[in-house]
Amino acid sequence: MAETIFTKIINREIPADIVYEDDLSLAFRDINPQAPVHLLIIPKKAIATINDIQQDDRELVGHLYWVAAHLAKDMGFADDGYRVVMNCGENSGQTVFHIHLHLLAGKPLGWPPYTDRMKEG
Ligand code: 5GP
Repeated sequence: MAETIFTKIINREIPADIVYEDDLSLAFRDINPQAPVHLLIIPKKAIATINDIQQDDRELVGHLYWVAAHLAKDMGFADDGYRVVMNCGENSGQTVFHIHLHLLAGKPLGWPPYTDRMKEG
């Protein structure tokens, strides 16, 4: 698959505000935050979309959720609550084709997480 901006962040070719890293994953602050805390949690393995997740990737994808919970506890918003979401494809608004969890926290987030304009579509 084509290399994305997230591969460049993993390889330190472009800067990012990295908050967590391990052998499998990286977490950094979103450049255009939609909440007081907006992190992106990505696998180091490049997988384009949820549709491209293979059987062998199941532990890796689960690991991303573990990282989300770990960061929520570590950064102190686990008890207040937060949202973890992964977009897939055009209708979701996915713009970077390297799977990533959005972790949003720090304020009441509201539900559903889309606008009236999008509901009409
Ligand atoms: P998507 O719309 O694909 O679910 O989310 C992609 C996210 O990546 C967006 O929230 C966008 O702000 C973020 N993003 C895009 N380019 C960069 C970048 O170069 N650095 C960082 N930190 N975030 C980025």
